[in-house]
Parts: sequence; structure tokens; C-alpha cells
Amino acid sequence: MHLRCFTVGAFQVNTYLVTDPATGASAIIDTGETDELVRRIQALSPPPDIQMILLTHAHLDHAGALVDLQRVWDVPTVMPRAEQPLFDTLPVQGRMFGMPHLDRPCGRIDRRVDDGDTVLLGDLTLRFLSTPGHTPGQGCWYDDEDIVVGDTLFAGSIGRTDFPLSDPALMVESLRRLTALPGHLRVHSGHGAVTTLEHELKTNPFLGYIRKERGIAGPPGLAWTRGL
Ligand SMILES: [Zn+2]
Repeated sequence: MHLRCFTVGAFQVNTYLVTDPATGASAIIDTGETDELVRRIQALSPPPDIQMILLTHAHLDHAGALVDLQRVWDVPTVMPRAEQPLFDTLPVQGRMFGMPHLDRPCGRIDRRVDDGDTVLLGDLTLRFLSTPGHTPGQGCWYDDEDIVVGDTLFAGSIGRTDFPLSDPALMVESLRRLTALPGHLRVHSGHGAVTTLEHELKTNPFLGYIRKERGIAGPPGLAWTRGL
């Protein structure tokens, strides 16, 4: 896929415009919490052919501006099925995080996906990998070269698991499954820099337990999984 990153809003969340190079069909992955992404995509020339909106998870910085996007692009919107309970809290998530001015309406979900499901974007097939832990349904969208991981994995770190509805034990297993994908995959995270699965597997301090399990050389890593 061809992929452009737009870092937006108070949380500096990475949102993505992914495009099938063969047909030009495009999808927006994640939204930010304001209309900044709408304005930045509207400024593109030529205008992209937006055919769908995909969500990695339903935290307000990733899904809060869904209504703003749908007002401009009334296209099918796809969310991880298990994310519904968190999505339903969007109108009060600002309050939950001590920022009531960021409460947002929910927007419309047209399709809910489970692990292994696919969506078609032009000639491109995007696969969905469910990686719960940061949130109940957090997931990743990927093809043979690139994976958009939301807040599952960052360059040198992982998503927080101390939020309401987070589950560190699920995160442990999700990171095992994510790092079982081909190492050359370029990782596009919800915050911060681009990396690869192979680089994180060798160096990420939160993946020490996986290196140990698989006999991969590298730093021992943090003991965050102890007791899980
Ligand atoms: Zn998040």
C-alpha cells in the first residue's frame, strides 16, 4: 500500500491515508480528536478517492473525530468488534481522562471485524490482526509490506495497559502474535516514529520476554510481564 502519515491534535496521534497504487482507492486509518485531519486531507491535490474509514481502536485521539470525517466522507467505517464497549464511551472519554472539553459523539460504525478478517481497498487486501491489551479490541491493519498498529507497539515501547478496559495479560499474548508476523513489515504506530517488526523484536525493552522465549539475542528487557 502507499501510505501517508498525518500527525494531528493535542495527542500528536499518527493517522494514515493508505492508497492502493493500482486503482487510487484510499482509506483513512484513525481520526485524531479534532477536524484537523479533515482539513489536511482536503488540502491535498489531487483529492484522494476516500472509500472507507478504518479504526485501530476507540480512544478519543484515534476515533474522536469520526463524526467530522463522516460529515465530509460518507463512506463505510470499519472497527474491531471487541472495541464496541470502549467506542460507546466516546461521549464521556474526555471526562474519563480529565479533559471534558474533548468529549465527542460516537459517529457511525458500518462493519465490525474480528481477527483474520479482511477488507478490500481497490485491488488491495488489508488484513486485520486483533491485538487486544491496550484496549479490549485494539487491532492492526496490514498487507505484505506495512502494518498500522495503533497503540499496540511503538518504536522502543508499547501501548499503555493501565487505562480503564486495558488488560496487560492480553497485551503479552498480542505482542507474541504481532511479532510472529514477517520481520520486514514496516510498523506504523499511533504515536512516534516508523520502525520494523524485526528491529523491535531485537531491541524493544518491552519485548525481552519474547526474545527469551524464542532464543533471540538482545537486551534482557523490562520485567513488566512478571506475575501475568
Ligand atoms: Zn490508545
